[in-house]
Amino acid sequence: ALIDNLTGAFNRNAYNIEIVRFIKEFERYKHPFAIVVLDIDHFKNVNDTYGHAKGDEILKIVAALVKSTIRETDKIFRYGGEEFVIWMPKMETNNAIQASDKIRRVIEGQNWNAIAKGLEVTASFGISCVKESDTTTTVFNRADKALYSSKNNGRNQVSFEK
Ligand code: GH3
Ligand code: MG
Ligand code: MG
Repeated sequence: ALIDNLTGAFNRNAYNIEIVRFIKEFERYKHPFAIVVLDIDHFKNVNDTYGHAKGDEILKIVAALVKSTIRETDKIFRYGGEEFVIWMPKMETNNAIQASDKIRRVIEGQNWNAIAKGLEVTASFGISCVKESDTTTTVFNRADKALYSSKNNGRNQVSFEK
């Protein structure tokens, strides 16, 4: 079971397996990749205001928007409740930032009002690019730290951690 039932994205199990392979392949072939952590902003409020069923519907839509925006060779994982990880192979810093900001704008620009009156949905992003001596943990932790910066600096933005 490597697929998340609700969103059709790969699940956390799949991520845990794949990230080991991504790191090994980086050690061998030196192809860069980026890890992008995406977390929906104030999702608890969204559930409280519009109900859990709408929340689920929003999660599906966000996953679909990400899938339709990323490259075919990228992979999206549902890492936790309202948190996704996107793996972008052959991505250097600037490209990963641009790609993530495009996803951010697509989510922000969706006609959410058609899903529920007055609804607005945004997400915050944290990015890391793999480097020599990275482990599965260190590459993820940098992206997570960057996500924390995005949240603290006002959400609905993209941050990168060197
Ligand atoms: P922040 O901007 O800091 O990320 O705030 P937040 O409210 O998104 O973060 P928090 O971690 O406090 O809350 C996450 C919420 O996501 C809590 C839970 O109700 C909701 N959530 C998690 N998984 C699901 C799910 O599968 N379906 C629905 N509808 N809601 C979920
Ligand atoms: Mg959140
Ligand atoms: Mg979260």
